[in-house]
Amino acid sequence: MQLNWEKTFHLIFKPGIVFLFLFSLTSPLAAQETQTDRSLYYQFSWDGKSSVLEVNLDYYGLKNTPTHFFYGMPEMGNQVNIFHSLKITGSTEDDLIRIDTNKREIIISHKDSGKKHLHYTIDGSLTSPAKHNNANEQFRPQIAKGCFYSLSFNIFLKADSSVFKNIVYRWTRLPSKTRYFSSAAPASEPVNNVKLKIADWDKVYIAIENKLQTTTYPIGEKIYYAVTSGRDTTNDMQKCLKPFFQQFLPAIADFWNDKERGYYFLSVLPFLNSGKDSHTGVGLYNGFSMRYNGRYDTVKMETIAHEISHRWIGNKLTIQGTGMEYAWFEEGFNDYVDTYILAKTGMLSAEQFADYVNKTLSAFYQNPVREAKADSITKYFWKNGNYERLPYQKGFIYAFYLDNQIRINSAGKYTLRDFLLRLLAKRNTLSTDITINDFTEASSSFLPKSKVEEEVSRYMQNGQLLDFHSARLIDAYQINFKDGIPFITLTQRIPLSQVL
Ligand SMILES: [Zn+2]
Repeated sequence: MQLNWEKTFHLIFKPGIVFLFLFSLTSPLAAQETQTDRSLYYQFSWDGKSSVLEVNLDYYGLKNTPTHFFYGMPEMGNQVNIFHSLKITGSTEDDLIRIDTNKREIIISHKDSGKKHLHYTIDGSLTSPAKHNNANEQFRPQIAKGCFYSLSFNIFLKADSSVFKNIVYRWTRLPSKTRYFSSAAPASEPVNNVKLKIADWDKVYIAIENKLQTTTYPIGEKIYYAVTSGRDTTNDMQKCLKPFFQQFLPAIADFWNDKERGYYFLSVLPFLNSGKDSHTGVGLYNGFSMRYNGRYDTVKMETIAHEISHRWIGNKLTIQGTGMEYAWFEEGFNDYVDTYILAKTGMLSAEQFADYVNKTLSAFYQNPVREAKADSITKYFWKNGNYERLPYQKGFIYAFYLDNQIRINSAGKYTLRDFLLRLLAKRNTLSTDITINDFTEASSSFLPKSKVEEEVSRYMQNGQLLDFHSARLIDAYQINFKDGIPFITLTQRIPLSQVL
């Protein structure tokens, strides 16, 4: 079955991981004379025209201890053949190189200990027609005349983190007029050395092109970055993104009482292959990269909001499981929070918010697999779009329902936000993710715990359908049914703006 790539991805980066970026203008090899140097030194070179990136990697190798590198992350965007992009073009004399194509592994045996180098190229040519844009243009390196876009796991090699501790990279050759953005150090120039921890090898996004547009927004003490391209002649994407920086990001940080607010970037760039309206993206620790075709619309806006929101639910707050059985929380609760913030900031009108609720109710109650148990999600998520969408739908609906129950039960004193803050506080006392028991325990301050336990078990885990005939909603909503499918209307009793 054709996989559906109308989706976005977020990599899970746990709290406590921080980027360490140091600028240095010293020679990358100056400090590398001893065995104690545990850094990988990358130098990138691109002529601005060809589809090939040249990479020189310097590192310290040990006699009798082979160095292992891996290339590519095929599970990201279904790039099963990504290893074909890499070509080894040179190494230190007397090094013996063995390549295991199946494992995407490069094994290098050294005749003696000392400074070593490895040269390789990455072919980033456009490989497919526009119908595969979503998979290929986000998850493969894209290198074409005047344009270079890549996630870092497509240009760095994965190395053993017990051997190597840092990555240091810089560009030795780029056309002079190109504009450059690296999410690892947004203020850096290509010639600067940027240093990051080896654990962050896969979290960087780099975009280089003549028409790159970067706007900076000082928010608190941090700088946020909006990265777009003048290649898009349909949308003024900088203008489209402005509300995220001026409204959404401050509002969602307030929602979570989050004072950290490290720097953040949104990179929203058109596909190189023009084609039908589509978009895809990948959430990174400190930002989100989206690629798209077509007009900027509420669907694209909702995607960006959803991915920003994963900074909290999905990254800081995740329920421990063996597979995707709690994806309803990670995706659905997240979706409710981001849609809620969009409405709270006025980026979605009250009517558009109600439409989103109704669209989700309608899609869920007509989903052919709506009664599937939560433990079947892992098995079918990547194979069947109905399963893929199920946790988003049922989690959103339960979050909406729970928000209403908490508000009614507390006569308007508490909302879902209070419950989520309680959960986050619990998470912050633990060294691991919360459990489903922590979820129901946290609810006990707002609702009878046994009721929530039963609901989670019935509706979220075992696939029974929440019956809105008997569910009470706050005065701002009225529930109606058409062909047995629930939908809400906004009442005049309380305007939604007073509720959010
Ligand atoms: Zn998501």
